[in-house]
Amino acid sequence: MAKKQFKAESKRLLDLMINSIYTNKEIFLRELISNASDAMDKLYYRTLTDNISGLSREDFYIYLDPNKDDKTLTISDNGIGMTKEELEQNLGTICKSGSMLFKNESQDDKNAEDIDIIGQFGVGFYSAFMVAKEVEVISRAFGSDEAYSWVSTGADGYTIKGATRDTNGTTIKITLKDDTDDEKYSDFLEEYRIRTLVKKYSDYIRYPIKMTVTTSELKEGTEDEYEEITEDEVLNTMSPLWKKNKNEISTEEYNQFYKDNFYDYSDPSLVIHTNTEGAATYNALLFVPSRAPFNYYSKDYEKGLKLYASGVLIMDCCKDLLPDYFSFVKGLVDSSDLSLNISREMLQQDRQLQVIAKHLEKKIKSELLKLQRQNREKYEEFWKQFGMQIKYGIYSDFGMNVDLLSDLILFKSSFEDKYSTLEEYVSRMKEDQKYIYYACGDSVEKIKKLPQAELIMDKGYELLFLTENVDEFTMKVMRQFQDKEFRSISDDDLGLGEDDNEARKKKDEDNKELFDFMRDSLSGKVAAVKASSRLKSHPVCLSTEGGISLEMEKVLSYQPDEENRIKATKVLEINTDHKIFEKIKNLYKSDKDKVKIYTDLLYNQALLIEGMPIDDPIAFANSICELM
Ligand code: ADP
Repeated sequence: MAKKQFKAESKRLLDLMINSIYTNKEIFLRELISNASDAMDKLYYRTLTDNISGLSREDFYIYLDPNKDDKTLTISDNGIGMTKEELEQNLGTICKSGSMLFKNESQDDKNAEDIDIIGQFGVGFYSAFMVAKEVEVISRAFGSDEAYSWVSTGADGYTIKGATRDTNGTTIKITLKDDTDDEKYSDFLEEYRIRTLVKKYSDYIRYPIKMTVTTSELKEGTEDEYEEITEDEVLNTMSPLWKKNKNEISTEEYNQFYKDNFYDYSDPSLVIHTNTEGAATYNALLFVPSRAPFNYYSKDYEKGLKLYASGVLIMDCCKDLLPDYFSFVKGLVDSSDLSLNISREMLQQDRQLQVIAKHLEKKIKSELLKLQRQNREKYEEFWKQFGMQIKYGIYSDFGMNVDLLSDLILFKSSFEDKYSTLEEYVSRMKEDQKYIYYACGDSVEKIKKLPQAELIMDKGYELLFLTENVDEFTMKVMRQFQDKEFRSISDDDLGLGEDDNEARKKKDEDNKELFDFMRDSLSGKVAAVKASSRLKSHPVCLSTEGGISLEMEKVLSYQPDEENRIKATKVLEINTDHKIFEKIKNLYKSDKDKVKIYTDLLYNQALLIEGMPIDDPIAFANSICELM
C-alpha cells in the first residue's frame, strides 16, 4: 500500500521530533494522556447533551500498558475515538499553533529555536516521535462499528487500513527507539518511571489512569512465603487543582499546572485562584503570563478561558469570560451554575456567565492593583508586556472603562526617570500646578530635548513621557485624573499663570504685522505665527490648536487614505528673546524676501525637532547652503 505523505509543515515538525535533542522527551506521555482525557471529555459531554444513556463518568479510564518484550508502551482510552477521516485529518497535520509558527520559520538548521518551539507549544500527538520509532493508532469512533489503524514510522508518511477494536476509543502503541549512550528509552517501560511521570504531569486528570502492577505480598497464613499479586492500580489522584484548597497548593504546583496546560515554558507572573459562592458559584484559576505570547499583539491571538460545567469541559476557549483589555489572562472557570446542554450561541446570552465575567474582571483588576502596590518591580515587568493592551482598553469603547483601568496605568516620568502611576503623579504635584503635563515622542531621550519640555521641567513640574502611539489617544479619552486635567506640552494653554499670558499677548500685538507676514509666507502650513512663552534656549517650536496634536497627526499619517488624513492645526511659536528674532525684525524692514526664506527654515527646523517629515528636504538643504 502506498504511503500517504504528511502535510508540508507537519513533515518539518516530525523531522524535528524524530531527531530531537530536546531534553524533556518525557512530556510525550503527558501529551498522549491529555489527548485521551480530552477524547473522554468529548464523549461524556456528548452523552449529556444528546441524552445518550448507558454511559457514566465512572466508565471512563485511561490504561497504560508497558511491554518489555516488545519494547512497546500502549496508551488506551475509551473516549470518542476517530473515524477514518478524522485519523487522516487530525494526525496528518499538526496542531494549528505549531503549524502557524512553522510557516514563519524557513531556515533549516536552527536547533536552539527548535527546542523552544517544543517547549512553548504542546505539540501534542507528534511528541510521541521523540521516543518512538513507530507509532500505531487504532481507533474506533463512538457510534461506529468500524475501526482503523494508522501507522507511521515518521517522516516517510503513514498508512491507514481497517482494523478491529472491541469498543469505541483509541489505542496508541508506541514502539520505543533503541537505547543509545545518551538516552535510555527503555526506561519508559519501567513501572516507577511511568508512575513518577503521571504524578508529575497528569495527576489532576479527572479520569483514572490505570496500570497493571505486580507486587509480592506475604501469603496468608505463612511467615516467609510470598505470592505475586497482579492488580490494576490508579496512578493519579484525579482531583482537579482548582477544586483544592488554596493553602494546600504550592507555588510550584500552580506553576507546573500553568506550564502543562497553557503552553508556556516560563512561570506565570501572577496566579489568581478564587472559589466564589453567592450570585454565582464557581472556581476560577487564572494566570498572567510573564511574557506576551509571540502572536499576542496580532489578530491571530485568541483570548479566552477554558470553561467547565461542574467539572466537565464544555468549551476550550470561552471568549465571553474576558474583556479585551485583559485578554492576556489564561486559565479556567468551573461553575456548577452552567447547564451542560447549553449551546455556544446561548452561552453568550447566559446571565450566569455574564455575572461570572463581571466578577472576574473586578478580581483581575484588584489583583493587578495589589501587585502594583506590593511588588512594584514585578508589576513593571507585567506592564512592559501587557500595558499597551490596557491602554487600548482605555481608549476603545468610547472610554467606558476609564474608571476601571486608569489606576493600572504607568508612564515613564521625569520624576527620578521612573515609572509613575497617575495617583503618584498627582500626589507630587506642586501647589500652584494646575495640570498633569505630558509630552509625546519616540523616546524619553528625544522628548527631554524638546524645547517645550524644557520650560515645564525648569518650573519644577513633573512631566510624563508618552512614547507609544496609543498613549496620547489614551490621555485624550481620559481627559483628567482625580479632577486634574491632562495637558500636552504643545497645547496652546499650559496654565502657567496670567502674567505670562498677558506678556505674550502684548508681544503678539506689537509684532502683528510681521507675524501675519510670516504666516502668509508659509502659505497655509500653519494657522498662525505667535510669540511663545514656553521657549527658553530654542528659537522656535510648533504647537497645535484644537483636539489633534502633532503626535496624533504622526500616528494618523499611517492611515491609507491620503486624501482624508486628519492633520493638526499647527502654530509656529517664536522665541522673541532669541537673537534670531531680532535679526528677522530688522530684515523685515530691509529685505522681505529674506524673511520668507528664514521663516521657511525656522518652520522646517521646528518640524525636525518634533520628528515630523519636512515637505522638501532638498530645498531646505539648499537654503541652508545658500546662507552659509
Ligand atoms: P491537539 O491536541 O493540540 O489538538 P494533537 O496533535 O495532540 O493536537 O491531536 C490532534 C487531534 O487528534 C486532536 O485535536 C484530536 O481531535 C485527535 N486526537 C488525538 N488523540 C486522540 C484520542 N486519544 N482520541 C480521540 N481523538 C484524538
